[in-house]
Amino acid sequence: MALYEEQTLKIYNSLSSQKEVFQPIHEGHVGMYVCGPTVYSKVHLGNCRTFMSFDMVYRYLLHLGYKVRFVRNITDAGHLEDDADQGEDKISKRARLEKIEPMEVVQRYTVDFHNILRKFNLLPPSIEPTATGHIVEQIEIIKIILDRGYAYEKNGSVYFDVQKFNKVYHYGKLSGRKLEDMIANTRELTAQDEKKNSQDFALWKRAEPQHIMRWPSPWGEGFPGWHLECTVMSTKYLGETFDIHGGGMDLKFPHHECEIAQSEASYDKSPVRYWMHANMLTLNGKKMAKSTGNNLLPDEIFSGENKILSKPYPPSVIRFFMMQAHYTSILDLSDEALLAAEKGYTRLMDALDLMEHLPVSSSSDLDLKGWRQRCYDAMNDDFNSPVLIAHLFEGVKWIHLIREGKQTLDAGGKTLFQDTMKGFVFDVLGMESAHAESVDTEKLDGAVQLLIKMRNKARADKDYATSDEIRDALSSLGIQLKDGKEGTTYSL
Ligand code: AMP
Ligand code: ZN
Repeated sequence: MALYEEQTLKIYNSLSSQKEVFQPIHEGHVGMYVCGPTVYSKVHLGNCRTFMSFDMVYRYLLHLGYKVRFVRNITDAGHLEDDADQGEDKISKRARLEKIEPMEVVQRYTVDFHNILRKFNLLPPSIEPTATGHIVEQIEIIKIILDRGYAYEKNGSVYFDVQKFNKVYHYGKLSGRKLEDMIANTRELTAQDEKKNSQDFALWKRAEPQHIMRWPSPWGEGFPGWHLECTVMSTKYLGETFDIHGGGMDLKFPHHECEIAQSEASYDKSPVRYWMHANMLTLNGKKMAKSTGNNLLPDEIFSGENKILSKPYPPSVIRFFMMQAHYTSILDLSDEALLAAEKGYTRLMDALDLMEHLPVSSSSDLDLKGWRQRCYDAMNDDFNSPVLIAHLFEGVKWIHLIREGKQTLDAGGKTLFQDTMKGFVFDVLGMESAHAESVDTEKLDGAVQLLIKMRNKARADKDYATSDEIRDALSSLGIQLKDGKEGTTYSL
């Protein structure tokens, strides 16, 4: 029996503003789409929080035994500087400023994105499609929306007709906004505006002569609107209706609202069963953002090269810090919070080491099954990782009590205890073993080679006290030296 058949997962659905029991469309299978980055600059830690939140969701679904198809896109065209279809394309602008090809910008920052997520131990998605790889499909869906009468063409651009759509469907159902209020709060359109109404959004934009990223279409050369790529790629890989769609809270409107409108206008179907929105990481109480400069880059944190934090922090501590907050809560980054997270992370990892050598008794006086279920209950309650972590620390307390002989554990209990602790810490929360991270092989090799050289010099000088001290000190760290014909080698 799969774990998901034993456990009842509830997800907070932004569409209904309620926690709902999760029931995938196809039993045992989950389709999940998460909006990916716009690859025009390095990802900051705020972006990473959202991706990490959905990595935790993905991991828990896998842990429950679901077969998950996880699609996370790369936005490599169509995202303008201003969400309201104004300004330059973010990638084209960067390419112009740096005098390189737009695809060089895309490549550089896609590689950076992958490197950073790997450091945070995120699992790669099942499919990572790009907007530029799906231009044909985007043109096809625009034709459908035009045919169904929910879009209009003007001077080589195509706009979605929000008011017409709202007569049949409901524009604003995800964000809770009312179209009448939106209309009341927007400026009058001028004669130069191509849109019929301010709320209309671009499905296709005519490329001005200076616009570098352009494709032929039935409406002339242009490029797709930002919202369209997610509709097209989620539909292509997950179907017209799929299980979970995620993204940061700031994408709820207009991006996700427009995704719903595009799907309904094309297929007369609501695209997503469970809409999930992750909350923001803040710095000094304000949202981390590229545009305001109020941000920290992950590498600035790992290296300690920043003016905000007192010391460097490794990726695992940052990840633990993130997991200590519920994904729907705002989280503020500060030195104090990271110091506390580091302490907690170390305590947890030390306890996991001690767990390997726990004494086994003939009987167990701990309610391990009840504790294990409490861990699942936490995660089943809309992925409540902070409550899960509190239960894991109850486990840490037990580890110490068992070592001190104040609690007992039988052999079966030990296996259950270890499997549960490790399953949640490594598989679900995605923490990496402290040892795996601290062993930076290149640096270690350099340091050991240096010590071998010093030991050889001591031996040549007949200073055997020093040479033995080096060998013994390394041995006590688990590094064995071997003297052979080819010189000295070592093993870990
Ligand atoms: P972008 O590359 O700007 O499209 O953003 C990529 C993802 O990062 C989106 O899901 C955003 O919602 C998310 N994001 C942006 N800023 C923050 C932040 N300060 N905290 C958490 N997520 C963020
Ligand atoms: Zn998207």
